[in-house]
Amino acid sequence: MKQFTLQTRSRTDFIKIDRQVADLVLETGLAEGVVTVFIPHTTAGITINENADPDVTADMELVLDRAVPWEGGYAHFEGNTAAHVKASMVGTSAQVIVSGGKLQLGTWQSLYFCEFDGPRTRQVWVKGISE
Ligand code: ZN
Repeated sequence: MKQFTLQTRSRTDFIKIDRQVADLVLETGLAEGVVTVFIPHTTAGITINENADPDVTADMELVLDRAVPWEGGYAHFEGNTAAHVKASMVGTSAQVIVSGGKLQLGTWQSLYFCEFDGPRTRQVWVKGISE
């Protein structure tokens, strides 16, 4: 397994991680197979979505904030229940096919680390499985 560290910049922060994941896939020498991108966190997520218009991730942040407001009379003592709920809505991993040593993402797709309780230092774990 490979991993890298990420510094998020604000409470909610979508960060493109294609380059870091692609670099680790190259390091492993994986040519044909599948790579899993997983995060060991309960208040962040991983998703794949549009990379061309930054308004798309901004709108996703807005929709998630509307669906799960930060203040909600929640019970959890840490006060970050909204981040936990968003993390479960988005999920903590993604799989991408690798062919020719490259991530097979669509033209308009990127992998995003989704911070919901930042700023924090975060880990991303990457594991390739050969075909
Ligand atoms: Zn918590």
